[in-house]
Amino acid sequence: MLLYNSLTRSKDEFKPREAGKVTMYTCGPTVYHFAHIGNLRTYTMEDVLEKYLRYSGNDVKRVMNITDVGHLSSDGDTGEDKMLKGAKREKKTVLEIAKYYTDAFFADCDKLHIKRPDVIEPATNCIPEFIAMIETLLSKGYAYEAGGNIYFDTSKLEKYYVFNDFKEEDLEVGVRESVEEDSNKRNKADFVLWFTKSKFEDQELKWDSPWGIGYPGWHIECSCIASKHLGEYVDIHCGGIDNAFPHHTNEIAQSEATYGHEWCKHWLHVHHLNTSSGKMSKSKGEFLTVSLLEERGFDPLVYRFFCLQSHYRRNLVFSWDNLENAKTAYTKLVARIAALAPKAGEDVDAQAFAEGKKRFTDALDNDLNTSLAVTALYDVFKLSANDTTKLALIRDFETVLDLGLVAAADRVNAEKKKEAEAENADIDPELLAYINEKIEARRAAKKAKNFAEADAIRDELLAKGITLLDTREGTKFTIGS
Ligand code: AMP
Ligand code: ZN
Repeated sequence: MLLYNSLTRSKDEFKPREAGKVTMYTCGPTVYHFAHIGNLRTYTMEDVLEKYLRYSGNDVKRVMNITDVGHLSSDGDTGEDKMLKGAKREKKTVLEIAKYYTDAFFADCDKLHIKRPDVIEPATNCIPEFIAMIETLLSKGYAYEAGGNIYFDTSKLEKYYVFNDFKEEDLEVGVRESVEEDSNKRNKADFVLWFTKSKFEDQELKWDSPWGIGYPGWHIECSCIASKHLGEYVDIHCGGIDNAFPHHTNEIAQSEATYGHEWCKHWLHVHHLNTSSGKMSKSKGEFLTVSLLEERGFDPLVYRFFCLQSHYRRNLVFSWDNLENAKTAYTKLVARIAALAPKAGEDVDAQAFAEGKKRFTDALDNDLNTSLAVTALYDVFKLSANDTTKLALIRDFETVLDLGLVAAADRVNAEKKKEAEAENADIDPELLAYINEKIEARRAAKKAKNFAEADAIRDELLAKGITLLDTREGTKFTIGS
């Protein structure tokens, strides 16, 4: 599989260290508020990647952190802890906020068919691991104490800006709120590993440490949580593009300084969901949630479909009109699947199945091209194969795309059946069974282009006073005049 790698800035063959076993780390949410649908775009694309790696025969161990401490309101070292801000806003404790929004996050994920990672680890569970890594960094000379805080010394690295050749003045990328000079830092790029001094003295969660009572920086969390569960190496690390700097850059600095070798060879970044006024973000105040989509009458899986229709390395523009278009396309696709009529005992055509599957895997093997994978799904209808084969292919693709299409088609058919039963409630069951059998026989005759047979069936029914009527929803009938 070719996947774009932010480290090499090229599409590289993705190869786990051990063939067939992938270790995957994905940065999790900061649980101070609901996830917005931009955040969820990132998690959706990561979910497709994970499912496709599994589909391609890999065992995947995926780890995700929950940031419940240390993420300041800028992505750097300034501002108030986001969790504390959330707690103040809602007049609750930080732990109450963390629990509430962690549950809300996974409820949203369930609605979007985003599978839960194998390991979910809140940062507050790992304080001893953070302290141990910081001690190692201090003993190796990669960290220093100044003004009560422990900093990472970026000047000790051969190359700090691994993803881009950032210039010093670009350092403020990713910093969203007021940037204040921290005079404790030896180099402008240095970042905090452990805080004991902050101008926000009301930090709620604090722990004892060799350097005094305090709390960890955000970046150390991911380095430690990854190694706690995946060891010294990670095959693929993912996140939104805004995480590349400073967060992922700092994760690499910490982990490689600790272990003395390359930590993760492959970095995948999902580009942003934007609105017409720019990047969707919580700090702007107004943001869109899954609940809001539902309130506006959108199945969350329509949003998943919307995300999959575009490539993860392109910015995606959200508008209600765009989502409405996705809804229309999704509904039509479901109707086409509902109209497939596999027959009992019919075999899957192996050659057609392989042909359909190849289009799908070619798309995803080429840098996770989900929009072409969706096209491959539409192409299934064009295959010259029986409906059993088509449905088998769609079910197969759905183990990766997970759009709920087959279940939605089953619901459409169940609804139709219920309506037909309600319409036919007064008809003698034996007569009804006879008519349905004839309608099915006529449908099969027409499909086999045996129109003489089809006409004969219609005439046979007409002779009994039963008139057939072909509609978009299938064949209906009337009895008598
Ligand atoms: P946070 O909860 O702020 O730590 O962000 C969770 C994830 O969402 C991170 O991987 C971010 O990079 C990602 N993210 C943030 N904003 C957007 C956006 N507008 N579009 C896509 N992903 C985003
Ligand atoms: Zn992270």
